[in-house]
Amino acid sequence: MISIIVPCYNEEEVINAFYDELHKVLVSLEMDYEILFIDDGSGDSTLDKITSLAKKDAGVKYISLSRNFGKEAAMYAGFCNVSGDYVAVMDADLQDPPALLPEMLDKIINEGYDSVATRRKNRSGEPIIRSFFARIFYWIVNKFTDVEMVEGARDYRLMKREMVDAIVSMCEYNRFSKGIFSWVGFKTYWLSYENVERTAGKTKWSFWKLFRYGIDGIVSFSDAPLHFVSFLGMIMTIVAVIAIIFVVVRQLIWGDPVAGWASLVCIVTLIGGIQLFCIGIIGEYLAKAYMETKHRPIYVIRETNCDQAK
Ligand code: UDP
Ligand code: MG
Repeated sequence: MISIIVPCYNEEEVINAFYDELHKVLVSLEMDYEILFIDDGSGDSTLDKITSLAKKDAGVKYISLSRNFGKEAAMYAGFCNVSGDYVAVMDADLQDPPALLPEMLDKIINEGYDSVATRRKNRSGEPIIRSFFARIFYWIVNKFTDVEMVEGARDYRLMKREMVDAIVSMCEYNRFSKGIFSWVGFKTYWLSYENVERTAGKTKWSFWKLFRYGIDGIVSFSDAPLHFVSFLGMIMTIVAVIAIIFVVVRQLIWGDPVAGWASLVCIVTLIGGIQLFCIGIIGEYLAKAYMETKHRPIYVIRETNCDQAK
């Protein structure tokens, strides 16, 4: 059986078109299927559209979350509640073409891969500033973390049961899927395809949301910024010691009391700024650790047609 997880947040405009296209592909696979829609607290008629699909097609399952928990939580709710031997995650906006599924399945069944992931070939149609920050993000992540993230990778992937179980076992509260997929390992085949524009509706990601998400990704999978902070502290201490020796010696030899208080102000504010910046970095980690220690559930179910939904 193949299971498809579809996180949806305010997708009323595309859900039917998406279902039609996906259904066609699933039928052509000639295997049992299950489409699990996760309604992530949509405020529009997304849930109504899904429930009417579920009435027509017994393969359509849904879980409606009690509020908007974010795509990461929605995907996790999906992973916890699918029962297929092969599981795919797919966006509802048809940016992840269902037509790729047969090829992906073939790689897993016939070529011994555990997972087939997708990446887009280019970033056409994206604002330049966003591409620029995306590049920086991937550079930092690949240089300083112990997980490898492929640039342009999408969340669209098909994987075997074993990999899904590994993902479910990672029950951290701060979830960053690109990192989690890479952390669990397994043999992954990368499939490239041309970027597809959204069919209808609009993206849920603003620049700042993406920026925060990027920071979360780095904090979740690397402690390099913390090492950077202690390194910086050490360098500045050494510089300060040298400066003190210089000033004392100069004072003893030439006796030059209050010269250059302007430079002093500059140095004090510079060091103050650096300190706050470093405390900020430490604070990011502390905040994450704090949230993890609360052990809050990652998602809360309001309504579902899955038996024994977890
Ligand atoms: N999504 C979600 N919860 C959210 C935001 C998005 O479940 O809080 C879903 C959304 O419905 C879509 C997928 O995640 O199916 C990707 O969202 P979007 O298309 O807005 O992102 P983009 O493709 O622009 O990166
Ligand atoms: Mg999209």
